[in-house]
Amino acid sequence: MSKKSWVLVFVSVLALSVIVVSFLGYRFRSERLTAEAQSGCKGQPGTVRGKDCSVRILVFSKTGAFRHASIPDGIAALRKLAAEKAVTADFSEDAALFTDANLARYNAVVFLLTSGEILNDEQQAAFERYIRAGGGYAGVHSATDTEYKWAWYGKLVGAYFRNHPHTQSATVDVIDHHHPSTSTLPEHWTRTDEWYNFATNPRDSVHVLMTVDEKTYQGGNMGAFHPIAWYHQYDGGRAWYTALGHTSESYKDPLFLQHLWGGVMYAAGAAA
Ligand SMILES: [Zn+2]
Repeated sequence: MSKKSWVLVFVSVLALSVIVVSFLGYRFRSERLTAEAQSGCKGQPGTVRGKDCSVRILVFSKTGAFRHASIPDGIAALRKLAAEKAVTADFSEDAALFTDANLARYNAVVFLLTSGEILNDEQQAAFERYIRAGGGYAGVHSATDTEYKWAWYGKLVGAYFRNHPHTQSATVDVIDHHHPSTSTLPEHWTRTDEWYNFATNPRDSVHVLMTVDEKTYQGGNMGAFHPIAWYHQYDGGRAWYTALGHTSESYKDPLFLQHLWGGVMYAAGAAA
């Protein structure tokens, strides 16, 4: 090769390197900017300096059947907790949000007091793929009164609601304190709620955290071991459920809010 050719080769390699380095730099920058834009945490009220600002949850409260009057209380409580804990929370009743691309933005999806049929076949399939990819689910109260015909969901939430007696006081036995949703609760926790009976006892398929003592109220029909909150790893993801949370007062009760937030953060795979 002539001297001129060598110079040409050198210049070409140099030019190519500059192009590759610039492209990689641009990609890195745009990915970082996208991540920041998606977290939405920067500059939001309640953002706490030094805390992990990357956790994002979707709180879904669509109802296809019974609608709890406490839904606005649940939303307000989770909005306040998320702000305090520097977690980004989106609130919606729009099932169209259940797409692969949108669900992938969330560490957990909370079914807050949902009921009845709320997702179509495509939305259900997207949610199944989200959980299989390591996503998180937290169900509150009537989340077990939801999607009876979607068998995968029934296993995710752990059981389906059957019936309930009138709202009254009862004592909950916290049988496992080694979980963020129970670590701050007393061993025997007396409170007022609507105590669900379930169509099946989930004790063999989930890890039960709390049972309700049927001797302390009227209308329980699940026997001596009546699960009322639990969690499990399911189909690649995390699922947590509490049957508590019927009443508006629940969402002003510090112990219930610790229970709820601990469960949501377990589902998100984050520290409470
Ligand atoms: Zn209820």
